[in-house]
Amino acid sequence: MKIFNTMTRKLEEFKPDDRKLVKVYCCGPTVYDFVHIGNLRSFVFYDVLRRVLEYNGFKVRLVMNITDVDDKTIKKSREAGVELKEYTENYTRYFMEDIKKLNIKPADLYPHATDSIVEMEKIILKLKEDGFAYETDDGIYYEISKFKDYGKLSKTRVGDSTFSRINADEYEKDNLADFALWKAWDKEDGEVYWTGKLPKGRPGWHIECSAMSISNLGPTIDIHSGGIDLIFPHHENEIAQSEAYTGKKFVNYWVHPEHLLVNGKKMSKSLKNFYTLKDLERSGFDPLAFRLLMLDSDHKAKLDFTFEALEKAEKTLDDLDITLKSFAKLKENDRNGPEPEIGLKAFDAAINNDFDTHAGLVEFFRVVDIARARIKEGMVGKREKTKILDAINTMDGVLGILEGYNIPDSIESLSKERSDLRRKKNWNEADAIREKIKKRGFRVIDMVDGSYTIVKNRRV
Ligand SMILES: [Zn+2]
Repeated sequence: MKIFNTMTRKLEEFKPDDRKLVKVYCCGPTVYDFVHIGNLRSFVFYDVLRRVLEYNGFKVRLVMNITDVDDKTIKKSREAGVELKEYTENYTRYFMEDIKKLNIKPADLYPHATDSIVEMEKIILKLKEDGFAYETDDGIYYEISKFKDYGKLSKTRVGDSTFSRINADEYEKDNLADFALWKAWDKEDGEVYWTGKLPKGRPGWHIECSAMSISNLGPTIDIHSGGIDLIFPHHENEIAQSEAYTGKKFVNYWVHPEHLLVNGKKMSKSLKNFYTLKDLERSGFDPLAFRLLMLDSDHKAKLDFTFEALEKAEKTLDDLDITLKSFAKLKENDRNGPEPEIGLKAFDAAINNDFDTHAGLVEFFRVVDIARARIKEGMVGKREKTKILDAINTMDGVLGILEGYNIPDSIESLSKERSDLRRKKNWNEADAIREKIKKRGFRVIDMVDGSYTIVKNRRV
């Protein structure tokens, strides 16, 4: 398995610390609003990362944090007049719904920042004791010039000059500064504060991930992932805090999926090109079409999202659905003639080359095309049928674009009724039933041999 490591900017062979368990930490959502489709690109990528590791036989422990206290959550909850906990719990629930709809396997653990304050205190106290942090009136700051490797991920040069301080969680590279580990209480924080071994206040955003990674996965992990915009300052600061605290290497492989653009532009509320999964669903799209669109690209390249592309992805899923349903019903014979290659070699090579799901999909659809050819021929060899279905299911274990759904009995019987009416050439009544089935979210596809297949109607 090869992984492009942001730290070295090189494609490297993946070697876990412990072959029995791969430790992965992924930066999770800040639950102050619905996550947008740009964030969802990262979450789909984390899922692919996990599935590819598992496909290679690794046991994975994936931890994804929920940031439920930071500048944004406090500001938004106060604006809404809702207590922070209640406010963030709502958006956490929406997030969990989204990832389920996108067929994203749940993380092994979702630690919440507000449940991890004790770990943060411990790290901050030690950093202060060891001279990496200093206290001022408005908080405790990390002194970046004290950590000689500061800037190694984002390739920023620091040297030993002194820096001004920054209290905000988010800032740009040209604002290079000592950053807040702990923020002294401010009236804007309202009821949000902790009192314990540190002055009355709350954590900075960056320390949260260091604490949740170290306490749940240990000092060194195999893979840390997050959207590309997190390289600086978030991940740079995580390294500085964690390595100064443990004295050990924090992460072996850094993996960063790129931005999602919408119609060629960065998403923003002012450009009105800001979408959530709910927006896509409201426009009638199946979330899995979005997943397919994400998989059909290189995670290291910017991806331009358009509704035309989403529509195409949905059509692809539709055709796939019809093909697989028809193929499952296809008559079998004992023919053992020459068969096309249905092995998984090319697929394995694709996904093990830095999670290249685009190339993986090409291989997946090559096998689907063989199934289509047999449907056209009206017959398939018994052995070949099993091989094709096995290959498709195995590949989908990584891709996760197929879904199992049950056809309700009532839809089955309506379809049978329609089929009988068609046999009697009673077209009008048959068409009326077709409409009825459509309204209930399904579609009947008539096959050449007179039989039919029922599939889910994606556009309701
Ligand atoms: Zn993080």
